[in-house]
Amino acid sequence: MVLRERGAPLVIEERSIPVPRSHQVLLRVAACAVCRTDLHVVDGELGRGVLPVVLGHQVVGTVVAAGPDAVLQVGARVGVPWLAWTCGSCAMCRAGRENLCVNARFTGCDVDGGFQELALADSRFCLRLPEGYADVEAAPLLCGGLIGYRALRMAGEAPRLGLYGFGSAAHIIAQVARHRGSTVFAFTRAGDRAAQEFALGMGVSWAGDSTGPAPEPLDAAIIFAPAGELVPLALAALRPGGTVVCAGIHMSDIPSFAYSLLWEERSIRSVANLTREDGTEFMRVAAEVRIRVQTEVLPLAEAGRALELLRAGRVHGTAVLVPEDPHGPGRSAGAPVPARPGQV
Ligand SMILES: [Zn+2]
Ligand SMILES: [Zn+2]
Repeated sequence: MVLRERGAPLVIEERSIPVPRSHQVLLRVAACAVCRTDLHVVDGELGRGVLPVVLGHQVVGTVVAAGPDAVLQVGARVGVPWLAWTCGSCAMCRAGRENLCVNARFTGCDVDGGFQELALADSRFCLRLPEGYADVEAAPLLCGGLIGYRALRMAGEAPRLGLYGFGSAAHIIAQVARHRGSTVFAFTRAGDRAAQEFALGMGVSWAGDSTGPAPEPLDAAIIFAPAGELVPLALAALRPGGTVVCAGIHMSDIPSFAYSLLWEERSIRSVANLTREDGTEFMRVAAEVRIRVQTEVLPLAEAGRALELLRAGRVHGTAVLVPEDPHGPGRSAGAPVPARPGQV
């Protein structure tokens, strides 16, 4: 499923099977989760990326061919996250901050991602996946989970944690935060009862409108929704010394606000991308917490519809695309099949 122009619908293309080059592996894609960042790529809001491009940066697949010097072997099940490649030599890479590499390439943006049946990936940037998660469940861990986890770490000690925007990342990270003893509050679009019910079903202690007051002062807030107007709202909900973490890659402009909201050592920070170390650490956490991943599974050919459902805020949890079995239904026993909405 190829994006040929910004803002255009995805189109089906038949391509020849690629041959993995140095360090690369060829994966048979089992599942690829859909992320809000995919919408930002479609809309051209990131100011980067190649065209045409295959979207998708939460790819679960099995290695079917390995190029020279690849560090994975045929048969391995791995995940491909947003971080596709870093240079290893710039100041940020040398400082252990490869998430900020000035030469980084990102999956489904600068290189083709997982909205396809066979995908190339640099084996050095693939992640081992925890046991006990089906392919469809593991896919949302690769960005929603991973970026959410980095944001949670940046939030610091937060016995009372607010999550603004309760989608893919929030429903995963709420469970990790609760596992660590935090009380979690979910803030959704005003009046979005369905999202609030969903959040309560995922174990948060309170769910309500982002425009209303918080039930108690928050130690930290993570903003997953791409809405700049949430920043002053989240600041207003913080106790002194608290932190607002903006976890999205893109956000609408932040409106001006009174200095008193920032006063008393409150802080605002962003989270950008991930390091491989984040990935390894989060997959360990996922193995320990056994996160309940809520997915809506769609066939790969309906990638465009999945994007529109996400844009409309109609996905509860994470939309996941699954390639249809080219060998017919007889081969798909045991594999995830397109399921009714809401089914894991
Ligand atoms: Zn670098
Ligand atoms: Zn993402």
